[in-house]
Amino acid sequence: MKKTILALLLSSVSFAAVAAEVNVYSSRHYASDDQLYAAFTKATGIKVNRIEAKDEELVERLKAEGARSPADVLILADAARLQAAQDMGLLAAVDSPTLASKIPAQFREPNNHWFGFSSRARVIAYDPGLVTEAQAKNYATLADASMKGKVCVRSGAHPYNLSLLGAMMVHEGEAKAEAWAKGVVDNLARKPKGGDTDQIRAIAAGDCAIGLTNSYYYLRLQRSEKPEDTKVIDRVKMAFPDMAGQGTHVNISGGGMLANAPHKAEAVKLLEFLATDEAQQYFANGNNEFSVVAGVKLDNPELNAVSNFKADPLNAAAIGAKRNAAAQIMDRAGWK
Ligand code: FE
Repeated sequence: MKKTILALLLSSVSFAAVAAEVNVYSSRHYASDDQLYAAFTKATGIKVNRIEAKDEELVERLKAEGARSPADVLILADAARLQAAQDMGLLAAVDSPTLASKIPAQFREPNNHWFGFSSRARVIAYDPGLVTEAQAKNYATLADASMKGKVCVRSGAHPYNLSLLGAMMVHEGEAKAEAWAKGVVDNLARKPKGGDTDQIRAIAAGDCAIGLTNSYYYLRLQRSEKPEDTKVIDRVKMAFPDMAGQGTHVNISGGGMLANAPHKAEAVKLLEFLATDEAQQYFANGNNEFSVVAGVKLDNPELNAVSNFKADPLNAAAIGAKRNAAAQIMDRAGWK
């Protein structure tokens, strides 16, 4: 009996030694990520087993699996979600000189529990026939009385909006941030619904004049060859708004190693791979996100054309830490 158990143990150990693998739980929903993981396997020989689901589902699954979880790496969009995962104790600190030197401090959790691998700006989409460029270059315009009945936005509970409000809370204080959220709600053309692309399309359809979107959704439509997308971009412009002199709110998509990771060395290798030029090019060329690593050459003229905007330098983790207080403000403002 004991011999059998020993034999089983030995066979599983030797299996692990030949078949290096890493288990990734990812909420990213972008087609170009398939090529990204294939490139990692090609470069390292490490097989990637990927489970894709919504952020809340992944986090619930990780909590349920506990110490027996097979997951090594968690990839989520938005600092608010990554910070929430860290606060639940799901992530381990990763001491990697490669990541520390390649990922700017702004886009890393200060104790290296998670790292941003691509960045995105929360920009204003607008109809230039109804909103001036100067108006579109300021988040305050969304809450201005002149925009009554003209604003389309997604839910205030979504991390993209929670993080924008969180940055505003840090820079301008809670009272001003709450007044802004209430002002946006007062200006809504319709109840918040859909994703960011839906807001852009609603502006093109004339349902509203101005809204918020992450930059890559606008750029995706701009680079699309579908005639219906071209029509949308002919009508809707994108502006990089300023937050009271701080610049445009930027957030990240990123990841970290799970505290219970069975394949820790492979997990670190995968995280380090995400900071290589090759991976950065997938994010930028494939999904129109900004590279976070300096000096990476990108093959994306539309992205390059807008890359030199003034970005708010606030640390992503400081933004993520505001998510619960931001959600309370959203509730009080009635931004459902
Ligand atoms: Fe997104």
